[in-house]
Amino acid sequence: MKRTVLITGASRGIGRETAKIFAASGYNVVVNYLESEEQALDLIFKLQKKNHNAIAIKADVSKDIQVQAMIDEAIGKFGKIDVLVNNAGIDLYKQIQDTTYEDFCKVMKINVGGVFNCCRSVVPHMIKEKNGLIINISSIWGEQGASCEVVYSASKSAVIGFSKALKKELEPSNISVEYISPGFVKTRMTKRFIGQEISEELGEIVTPSTIAREVFSCSLKKF
Ligand code: NAP
Repeated sequence: MKRTVLITGASRGIGRETAKIFAASGYNVVVNYLESEEQALDLIFKLQKKNHNAIAIKADVSKDIQVQAMIDEAIGKFGKIDVLVNNAGIDLYKQIQDTTYEDFCKVMKINVGGVFNCCRSVVPHMIKEKNGLIINISSIWGEQGASCEVVYSASKSAVIGFSKALKKELEPSNISVEYISPGFVKTRMTKRFIGQEISEELGEIVTPSTIAREVFSCSLKKF
């Protein structure tokens, strides 16, 4: 039986490249998206043209009912989910005094709540299989903090704490939990910074496919 990966926020950017690399390695691929339907369907069309098994499922990761329905649909189609990549996320570039509590809640609900919702729905299936891998996408700002990105940085730090704790909790069930903390990646999220001087902490600007390879290498260590 082929392995299956579900990638959240795979219509664009890092998630899209991650979907391509898993598909090329023979995985069944579930492409989650929310607003970019055209791009998600275009990706599915391109993957299927290469004879890869891929489906797109629309779901807002911050909504637990939608996430549960997405996981049920993916398992109904492919039988199991071996790898979950929690990639969907949004940024927020504002000084603290301009940030509303609604801004704060929105970022936390998607960046942290989304990771929680997906793990909560997938883990019972992975426990049943006695196998699985969860890869959470944090950020260098979750490690170091960024000026004018306090809430985003906090959400990504939460992803790191969440991942470390879940790793311990799921180790006895043979389920691995990893996280990665990319620096500056050239995607729509970072569009506003292109051409500006980039902080030295970030190192060089990389492409989404570089991060996709890093994500995929976690699966090679596991399987
Ligand atoms: P991106 O190009 O803006 O793509 C974001 C993806 O997340 C899109 O596919 C979007 O889907 C999806 N998404 C957003 N909200 C969603 C929701 N509520 N439910 C489901 N999907 C949702 O961003 P990216 O740069 O590839 O970022 C991917 C991840 O890497 C994020 O978690 C980000 O924080 C992290 N990261 C990025 C960088 C960077 O420099 N770019 C650095 C470190 C970490 P739709 O368009 O279909 O709505």
